Amino acid sequence: MAQIVAVANQKGGVGKTTTSVNLAASLAVAEKRTLLVDMDPQANACSGFGLDKRNQQLTVYNVLLGDASIREVRVRSQFEHLDILPSNTDLIGAEIELVTAFARECKLQGMLNEVRDEYDYIIIDCPPSLGLLTVNALTAANSILIPLQCEFYAMEGLSHLMQTIRLIQKQLNPSLKILGILLTMFDGRNNLSHQVSEEIRAHFGGQVFSSVIPRNVRLSEAPSHGLPVLLYDISSRGAVAYLELAKEIIEAGH
Ligand code: ATP
Ligand code: MG
Repeated sequence: MAQIVAVANQKGGVGKTTTSVNLAASLAVAEKRTLLVDMDPQANACSGFGLDKRNQQLTVYNVLLGDASIREVRVRSQFEHLDILPSNTDLIGAEIELVTAFARECKLQGMLNEVRDEYDYIIIDCPPSLGLLTVNALTAANSILIPLQCEFYAMEGLSHLMQTIRLIQKQLNPSLKILGILLTMFDGRNNLSHQVSEEIRAHFGGQVFSSVIPRNVRLSEAPSHGLPVLLYDISSRGAVAYLELAKEIIEAGH
């Protein structure tokens, strides 16, 4: 049975997609059977693997509307153990088209159940909002991974996210857990990065991953080559950090 992890934070640009892409790749190289679900109409996770969103005939949009199964829509990646469920801008329409649908929050959960036995991990890259797409991801997930950028406003919006998690636990998914808070774009030469990281650890303690993702230019260059950082520069600090994160998650038994 796959562990389903939603990578979510309604704040934009905090490293959700970078984390989804590189964590999924790192789990796959550890020979964990992994499915990466791109739940963002921007389809950045797809581009991170060199998939052109204009070429995707079937996407997670068709899955959510019940027109196609995950088995029909998923595509193979460069990694033997990693499949991708692609997205494109059609997904913007799903938020509106599902408004009147029965159990609209549970569409993804129902579809993922069909393939859950085929994977060890299912990683869901969420869009920067707490709309229906993110709610579908949090309803389907066992846990949420929250990337937080090491900058001054890191915790802004976090109480809103925590409130949403509590609502989902109450009404849709009682077993949803916080897998961990992940500090991203940490700059060791910058005092502010240290301050923010200490503040978050003081506040959230053991809920913060030991692994920290450094600010690393290789991580930002890799997507423009359509490659996860492991295939772009495996010795970079960014690649090493995501391998560490995968190890931490696997060893914690998640
Ligand atoms: P959105 O909310 O738009 O979906 P996001 O939370 O998915 O954004 P990313 O797209 O992963 O965030 O990252 C935002 C930008 O920061 C990207 O240009 C990405 O390449 C860059 N970036 C992410 N993590 C790092 C890092 N550790 N070091 C350097 N650049 C990074
Ligand atoms: Mg993103």
